This record gives sequence, C-alpha cells and structure tokens, in this order.
Amino acid sequence: MKLYNTLSKQKEEFVPLEEGKVKMYVCGPTVYNFIHIGNARPMIVFDTVRRYFEYKGYDVNFVSNFTDVDDKIIKRAIEEGVSSDEISKRYIAECKKDMDGMNIKPATKNPLATEEICGMVDMIGTLIEKGYAYEKNGTVYYRTRKFKDYGKLSHKNLDDLRSGERSLLVTGEDEKEDPLDFVLWKPKKDGEPFWESPWSEGRPGWHIECSEMSKKYLGEQIDIHAGGEDLVFPHHENEIAQSEAANGKEFAKYWMHNAFLNIDNRKMSKSLGNFRTVREISEQYDLQVLRFFMLSAHYRSPLNFSADLMEASKNGLDRIVNAADNLKYLMKNAQTDTVTEDEKQRFAATAEFVEKFESAMDDDFNTADAVAAVFDLVKYINTNAGTENSKEYLQKLFDLLVKLTDVLGLIVDKQEEILDDDIEKLIEERQAARKAKDFARADAIRDELLAKGIILEDTREGVKWKRA
Ligand code: AMP
Ligand code: ZN
Repeated sequence: MKLYNTLSKQKEEFVPLEEGKVKMYVCGPTVYNFIHIGNARPMIVFDTVRRYFEYKGYDVNFVSNFTDVDDKIIKRAIEEGVSSDEISKRYIAECKKDMDGMNIKPATKNPLATEEICGMVDMIGTLIEKGYAYEKNGTVYYRTRKFKDYGKLSHKNLDDLRSGERSLLVTGEDEKEDPLDFVLWKPKKDGEPFWESPWSEGRPGWHIECSEMSKKYLGEQIDIHAGGEDLVFPHHENEIAQSEAANGKEFAKYWMHNAFLNIDNRKMSKSLGNFRTVREISEQYDLQVLRFFMLSAHYRSPLNFSADLMEASKNGLDRIVNAADNLKYLMKNAQTDTVTEDEKQRFAATAEFVEKFESAMDDDFNTADAVAAVFDLVKYINTNAGTENSKEYLQKLFDLLVKLTDVLGLIVDKQEEILDDDIEKLIEERQAARKAKDFARADAIRDELLAKGIILEDTREGVKWKRA
C-alpha cells in the first residue's frame, strides 16, 4: 500500500509503527461558523483513508480536533454579544450534524483545544527548558532557527524564508529574537478568554494545540498527520518543530495533504461571494452526493465545484443505488435459495473488480479509479442478475457492492434498519466511553444512533432506547 508523503515528496510504502495499527491525526476546523464545502474535503478524504485501512484489517486510532479558541471565534462572539464558548459549542454541534450527513465516521477522539490547555502549558515549559523557546513580556516564542530541520516538510530554505519574513516584521513583533520565531503563548487582551500560565494570563498559539493533542491521544510518534495543503506551511512545519524538539523523536512518519476545492474555477472566498456551506448544499442534495463528488477526483488534485458536476455526481450515485435496489428487489422475489455452479463462476468473475478497486486504493488512495471499479461492478450486476437467480448469489453480489461502497463511505442500502443487537452494542460502547470519561465519543455514539432514528434515555435503571 503506497501513499504520498509530503515530507519525502514521494509515494512510499506504508509501514505502520506498530503492526496492525494506524495512529492518525487530522487537523480539524476552527468552529466559528457552519463548515464550508472546502472544509468538507479533508473530512471526506481522510475518513475514506481511515475506512480503507480498516477494510485492510488495521485498527485505526483516528483523532481530529476542534479548534475552539481563536481570533475568529472571539470576533464572532463579540458581534453576537455571547461568549466564545457558546459560539464554539454551537458550531461543533452543527459541524457534527454535517459530518453525519456526509457519513463521516465519528473519530476515536475529538479533542477540544480549550480542554487541553494544561498539557500545552507543560509542552511550552519543556521547550523553554530545552532552549527552544523564550518568553518576552508574557509572550512565549519558538526559537525557530534552533530547530535544525526547520523547513523539511514544506521544503523551504530557512535563509530565503528569513529574508522574506524580515520585511513583514510589524510593530510589536520586534521583541522577537528573529522574525521567523512564532508564538506559543500570548497574553490576553481585554474581554478575551484566558488561562493561567507561568508567563501570563493568556492562551496558546494555534500550532502548539495540535502538537499537544496529538501527543496526548496518540503518543509522541504517530503514523499519519493530515490536513489541507494550506496547512503545510506554517502550521505543520511548526508542529514538527515543536513536537520533535520537545519529544526528541520523529513526530509523524507520513504527512498527507489534500488539494483545494475551488468553485467555478475560482478560489472560494467570502469577498468573491462564492462561499458555500455544507448546510446549503444539504438543502439541495443528499450529502452523499457531495461525498461522491469529492471522491470522484484524486485527493491531491485541485477539485472544481460546479452545479453541473454535482448533477453528474447525483446521476452517478443513483446508478449505484439503483443497482443495489434492484438486487434487493430480486432477492425478495427469488425463486431459489442456493447458489448454482454457474452462479459460482459468475460470482468468481467479480474478483477482477475487487482487484481493480484495491489496486486503485493501494496507489495513494486513488478514489477516482476506485469509483470506476465500482461502476464496473454495477455494470456487471446489471447484466448478470435477474429473476432466474438464486437468493444466495444475489446476496453475495449485494454484499460485495455494499462492502466496496462502504469503504468510500457511500450508503447504498438506505432503508435497512439498525438491528436491536447493534443498538445494544453501541449503547454498551457508549457506557464504556462514559466510564473512561471520553464524553466526546459517548456523545458521538448518541448522535450516531439519533441519526438512525434511535432515541436514548438515561434512567436510574440504566439506558433505555426507543425508535423515533
Ligand atoms: P480551517 O477551519 O480553516 O482551519 O480549515 C479546516 C480544514 O479545512 C483544514 O484542513 C484546511 O486545510 C481545509 N480547507 C479549508 N479550505 C479548503 C478548501 N477550499 N479546499 C480544501 N480544503 C480546505
Ligand atoms: Zn493542526
């Protein structure tokens, strides 16, 4: 299985740190508004990466944060006259609804930056002790030039960067030893949320948040760190500088970055007025269509969003769902149960599509080709399944279609109700998560069940559930 590593600028064979396991961290959104369709791209792409690892039998520990303290959140809170906390909580809940609609699996853990400040303060302390950071008037800066590998991810030359950055020096920043130094901790301004620290009452810089949350939930070394390509520099470059200096180890083995999503061949931006939220799309389309659209391109190619392409995606997805519906109809009306010799051979021929699907995904998650393999299977189903076939054979075709589309996170079997056993299992998992104080996971399970029409009620006698 090969994946493109931004660090080496090459496709590399995936070798996990620990056999059978993948530790993966994806930088999550800053929650000050509904997420836009650009934010949805890394969510869909890396959820698909996770699903394929799981399909291959890996146990994936998938951590993705919410940045819930930030200038944009504070600005929005001031505009609305509410607390920052209210803004971030509101948009985390909204984001989770959108993610559910796009069939993004709940993360193993969604840490919130504001709940991890203690660890960030500790990490900053370690960096100061090791000489990688210094404090000036309550602000702590990272001493960039001390980290010898700085620039290794973005392939930037430190000297070029330094001469470029120097001209950008603004007043108030001249207390830095070097223009390239970046903030680890900054003192509060009036009315801003703040936390205690040895340096000032204030808040952490954005980069240190991910270094700490990744370490806390996945350990000092992880397999994959991912996000959109705009995060390569400076965010991920700075994360490497922080984590590797503090922990004395290589931080992430593989760095994966998705290319950008544009609208009508232009960059999506508020000033151009072409900014689209996932919620807006959901008013027009099932979000499965958006997911299908995103996967129709390779994640490292820029992708253009347009009304025409969404229509084409809808038609493409319909073709797959129709094949599944047709199989269900045939299964219900099948005259015989057991698979015949001829059917065995016909089913064996589908191995070709599975191979095509897997080799596409093994080649740096080429979902565009994987989708083409699914279409090949659909075509095969449409010409090799009929009223004369046995239930068992039809079921096998159906299961295969579901198995492959599930890797892509596409639901082709909508009407299927969640079984009582599965509900009980999820409730048990939720109780265990609560016991372990993993409330985010517990909430995610409750939301997942709710999305399937299952309502939970916590009573003194235990958890009760009912179908809505
Ligand atoms: P932000 O909330 O800006 O930190 O972004 C959250 C995630 O969305 C990051 O991984 C970004 O790289 C990614 N992202 C933001 N805009 C786009 C876009 N137009 N296309 C693809 N990814 C994006
Ligand atoms: Zn990050």
